[in-house]
Amino acid sequence: MNLFDVYPLLDFEPVQGKGCYLFDGDGNRYLDLYGGHAVISVGHSHPYYLQSLYEQAGQLSFYSNAVKNSLQVQLAKKLGTLSGYQDYQLFLCNSGTEANENALKLASFYNHRRHLVAFDNAFHGRTAASLVVTDNATIKAALNESDHVTFLPLNEIEKVAELTEKQEICAVIIEGIQGVGGIYIPKREFLQKLVELCHQNDIMLILDEVQSGYGRSGHFFAHQLAGIQPDLITVAKGMGNGFPIGGVLIHPKFQAKHGMLGTTFGGNHLACRAAIAVLDIIKQENLIENARKSGNYLMQELMKFNGKIKEIRGMGLMIGIEFPFPYDKVRNTLFKNYKIITGSSSQKNTMRILPPLNIKKMDIDFFLESFYQVLKKV
Ligand code: PLP
Repeated sequence: MNLFDVYPLLDFEPVQGKGCYLFDGDGNRYLDLYGGHAVISVGHSHPYYLQSLYEQAGQLSFYSNAVKNSLQVQLAKKLGTLSGYQDYQLFLCNSGTEANENALKLASFYNHRRHLVAFDNAFHGRTAASLVVTDNATIKAALNESDHVTFLPLNEIEKVAELTEKQEICAVIIEGIQGVGGIYIPKREFLQKLVELCHQNDIMLILDEVQSGYGRSGHFFAHQLAGIQPDLITVAKGMGNGFPIGGVLIHPKFQAKHGMLGTTFGGNHLACRAAIAVLDIIKQENLIENARKSGNYLMQELMKFNGKIKEIRGMGLMIGIEFPFPYDKVRNTLFKNYKIITGSSSQKNTMRILPPLNIKKMDIDFFLESFYQVLKKV
């Protein structure tokens, strides 16, 4: 049997990871500034994380949601405390798209409406409802086409206000920072007015923090910089540092009913233990602060390349570098000549930097020096 060939692959097979580095079968070391799509939060093979998984696997890896699981309760408590959302409720699932599916469904259960608002350039996932609110026609099949979504330009509150006057809206979904779309940050005032508009019209506000959450932005959630509280917040990626897990943080006004949501694998023992270990490490090692400081330093230094770079966008360790030309050559040369892995985006001129949150200055400096050498030649 052959693999269904849907991924354009880098000519590279990592066989081991340690901290911010990956190693191939010949022992070559690569600096990972991509974290496998922003998934690696606390670093590859963190000893505390490994020990937690090892212990849990030896005890109980999985049982279904038909039985009590105090690891879920422990995870919810720790996530509530570290994120500042103690009074919210948690539903656990397996991935980012699934988290958004459940958040959209909860919004519709709550106000019994169906029309959704999303933003140009948005990426929320590839399954039914999350694909409806994703702004990319090339990944939608005929059955994913929908007449119950409106895409609006990011940061234009008047456009949202106009629509709310014409149409009854179920939910607005927005990324904390647009990731796949090329790193665009919703403005603080825009988010604040959006919350107001949503409250006034009984519209559910869903903050997709799948990529921008878990400390990556230098805050637990990127939207917290705006001082807002959404109705629903979705998480995944960095939550399990590579172990598949996702979740929805749900405002206390939502009333749970047995059978309303469900999953076989979501919130299993091993996944919860991985997610608990991630939160412990983030707290113990001050990784949110490290993301903020390292990101500020990296962005300041990148600004010095102003002749060769069109724009630097981002917050913390979620950074987009836009060139006045396609990024391929820079990215490929960084990989081939300097063994540095960076990320792509859906915009051909914007490269993404999404390293593990425990990256050290030494590694950032190595990247900056290599980047300087590459840019001299491009
Ligand atoms: N939401 C955002 C903001 C994402 O960046 C992604 C994935 O890149 C998703 C949702 C979908 O997550 P998953 O691939 O885990 O389904």
